[in-house]
Amino acid sequence: MRWWLYGLLLTILVVLIIPSVIVKGCSIDRQVLEQTMEIEPEGLSITMETLGDTPQIKVYNHIDKEIMDMPLEQYIVGVVAAEMPASFNIEALKAQAVAARTLAVRKMKAYGGRGCSKYGSGADVCTFYGHCQAWISDIDQEKNWKGEYDSNRAKITNAVQETRGLILTYQDNPIEVFYYSTSNGKTEDVSEVFSTQLPYYQVVDSKGEEDAPKYREVFTFTDKEFVDIFKRQYPNSNLTRKGLDAQINILGYTESGRVAEISVGGIKIQGKDFRSLYGLNSADFRIEYSGDKVLIHTTGYGHGVGMSQVGADRMGENGGTYQEILKHYYIDVKIDRIY
Ligand SMILES: [Zn+2]
Repeated sequence: MRWWLYGLLLTILVVLIIPSVIVKGCSIDRQVLEQTMEIEPEGLSITMETLGDTPQIKVYNHIDKEIMDMPLEQYIVGVVAAEMPASFNIEALKAQAVAARTLAVRKMKAYGGRGCSKYGSGADVCTFYGHCQAWISDIDQEKNWKGEYDSNRAKITNAVQETRGLILTYQDNPIEVFYYSTSNGKTEDVSEVFSTQLPYYQVVDSKGEEDAPKYREVFTFTDKEFVDIFKRQYPNSNLTRKGLDAQINILGYTESGRVAEISVGGIKIQGKDFRSLYGLNSADFRIEYSGDKVLIHTTGYGHGVGMSQVGADRMGENGGTYQEILKHYYIDVKIDRIY
């Protein structure tokens, strides 16, 4: 499928289908709308020496609908504060800072990127987590953290300063960065989730995440809700409430144990699309039928490509450095200083 068609389909999914699921009252928050659904073109050639020591980034605030100009390092503090719990291990926070900076640099026009394409704002990045990456202002950090603001802020600022100017590169270009909350014990191959092949994404173990809050979750639907959601998206399906279990078959799994393909009422769809449709935490799921209820049990939280934030925290807790964390999740990359 051509990239623009893929983008169009994702837009339709985000704009039309997911809100309709929200209206149905299912518990859904940010799990489906993940960062960087859009792949930047390969062959970007970043110009690492143009911006000097204090590069500025143009950030489109999608809430206030205005562009903010700020030092890149200050922006990274706001991204780490938004994307990872401040309670996480300092090495995980540093790894997150490098990942966030890599994503920003790959998009920044001054480095040869094409900027954020979502709002027509002309900015380098936006603050919408479903598109570029989340960012939170100082004022909102203070509101959220209250008494812990000073210590959290100091910890995150330290993680950003300790990794100042560092990004992940592959063949001298910033990598296409993906990260997510919690794995199912393994990471996912990028080609299973996004329509691209990138050599630095491979299936690797991600250990010690079983006690994470979102490691296991159950999503419950009535059989009517389940059928309605499916038929709204696939009107040609012959799915009926009666004998649902016989009409739903998982056809195969990816190498990482997530569902690759599932047949529902005679229609075959990819596990990742089933996940989006029902607002599931993960494409690693199994389905249980109980009376008129459909219970979908998930393992992990997020698409599974690249760094698991919980996995990074566990590696840090076990003595891993941020370099070891990054090189575990992003294969054969270099950590390069660009200023
Ligand atoms: Zn954006």
